[in-house]
Amino acid sequence: MKYYDRLIFELSHPGRTGFSLPAGDSLPVPEIPAHLRRQGDTGLPEVSEVDVVRHYTNLSQMNFGVDTGFYPLGSCTMKYNPKINEEMANLPAFTGLHPLQPESTVKGAKTLIDGLDKALSEITGMKKFTFLPCAGAHGELTGLMLMREYHMARGDAARTKVIVPDSAHGTNPASAHVAGLDIIEVKSRPDGLVDVEDLKPLLGPEIAGIMMTNPNTLGLFEKEIGKIAALVHECGGLLYYDGANMNPMLGKVRPGDMGFDIMHINLHKTFSTPHGGGGPGSGPVGVSERVLPYLAIPVTSGFHGNFGVMVKAYAYILTLGRENLLMAGPLATLNANYIKESLKDLYKLPIPTVCKHEFVYDGLIDDGAREGVPGATTLDIAKRLLDYGYHAPTIYFPLLFHQALMIEPTETESKETLDAFIDVMRTIAEEAARDPEILRSAPHNAPIRRPDETEAARNPIVCWQPNA
Ligand SMILES: *Cc1c(COP(=O)(O)O)cnc(C)c1O
Repeated sequence: MKYYDRLIFELSHPGRTGFSLPAGDSLPVPEIPAHLRRQGDTGLPEVSEVDVVRHYTNLSQMNFGVDTGFYPLGSCTMKYNPKINEEMANLPAFTGLHPLQPESTVKGAKTLIDGLDKALSEITGMKKFTFLPCAGAHGELTGLMLMREYHMARGDAARTKVIVPDSAHGTNPASAHVAGLDIIEVKSRPDGLVDVEDLKPLLGPEIAGIMMTNPNTLGLFEKEIGKIAALVHECGGLLYYDGANMNPMLGKVRPGDMGFDIMHINLHKTFSTPHGGGGPGSGPVGVSERVLPYLAIPVTSGFHGNFGVMVKAYAYILTLGRENLLMAGPLATLNANYIKESLKDLYKLPIPTVCKHEFVYDGLIDDGAREGVPGATTLDIAKRLLDYGYHAPTIYFPLLFHQALMIEPTETESKETLDAFIDVMRTIAEEAARDPEILRSAPHNAPIRRPDETEAARNPIVCWQPNA
C-alpha cells in the first residue's frame, strides 16, 4: 500500500507533532466556563509537519481535471477555461461586493450583467435573460415555470403536458416533473433524430410545449426543427431549448431563429467556468418576445445569482470576440468527427452521420467474447482508460444503446492530444480482442479499483468516523 492511500488518522503516532511556537506568556488565558469545555480527547491525528504536507499534496494530486489531462466527458463540455477569467472574477472590486449593498453602489456589476445579457441575447436570438438560476437544471425549472405562467395567464390551464424526446438529458424530464407537468416521450428514429410523424399525433390542447436540445445528446442536429416549431406553435404550445451545450452552435444557428421561446444556457459549460464536482454554475434563462412579460423579476435575484460565473462568461466573450467565438463550433465539430472517424473500424458506430460536438459509440466491435466467456464492456473500457491517464467518456448514456460511450473532445484540444487518445483507444481495443481480462480487472494503477458505484453515490461516506 502506498502510504498516501492511508487516512491521516492512520498515520497518527502518539506525541508526534509539527513545529510550534512556544506558548506566549504576555496574554492572559481567558477562563472558559466548565460546561463549554471539551470533556475528552479530540481524537485529532498526531503527525509531523512533513506527514501533513505529503498527505495533502498527495491527495491534491489524486484529483483529475482538465488542468491535468484530457477529459472527453460527453454532454458536459469539460474544456480548458482560460485562467485570465478566474483572475477577473477574483478582482476585489467584484469579490468585495455585498449582496445587500444599495443598488446605487453596485453599478459596475449591474453594467456587467447588462452587457452579458446583450451578448447572450445577440448570440441566441432571445429578447432578454434572467440570471437567477444557478445551474442548467435550475434554468430548466425556471423556464418551465415561465411556460406554465404563460399558459395560465391566457386562461389555458389545461396545458399540463410537455413532450420530451427519449434522447433528452435526464434533467429534462426531471425538471418537467418538478414543475408539475406530465411528460410525454417522443421516440427517436434509427438515425437519432425526432420523428415529425411521431410527434404530430401527440400535439393538442393539453400540450404546454416541447423540450429539445439541438444538437441533441447524440450530437446530431435536428434538421426538421423548423417544421417541429411550426407544428408546436400551431397547437398552442411553446418550445423550450436546452442550451446547456451551446458551443457547436455559437454564431452558426440561433435558438430564437429556430423558433424556440424559452431557453437556458450553461455559462459553466460553453462560457468558461471549471465545473467539476457539481459547481459552481449559472444557467441564465432567455425568452422570446411572447414570453417576455412573464420573465422572472428582478432578472437578478437579491443576491444577483452566481455572479462570479457571470464575470468569467463576460470576460470569455469579450476576450474571444465575435471572430473567435465563431470558431468554437467548427473546432468542436471537427474534433468530434476526427475521433469518431478514426476509431470506427474498432468501435461500433450506430449513427454514422456527421456529428456536432459529441458522438456515441456502442461498445467494441470485437469485445473479446469467446465460447461463452464474456468480453469487455463499456464499463471495462472506461476503467482501462484510467490506467492510461485519461478521464473516461460518459458511459451508458444516452439510453438508446446498450453499451453507449459518449465522447466530447471540445474545441480546446489539439490534434496531438486527440491522436494520443485515439492511440490509447486502439490499444484498448487490441487488448480486448487479445485478452479481455486485462480490461475486466481494470483499473490496475488507480488509487481505488471498482467501488459499488450505486452504493457510493447513494450513501457516500465522506467523513472519518472515529472507531468506525
Ligand atoms: C449539463 C446538461 C444539463 C444540466 O446542467 P446542470 O448545470 O448540470 O444542471 C442539461 N442538459 C444538457 C443537455 C446538459 O448537457
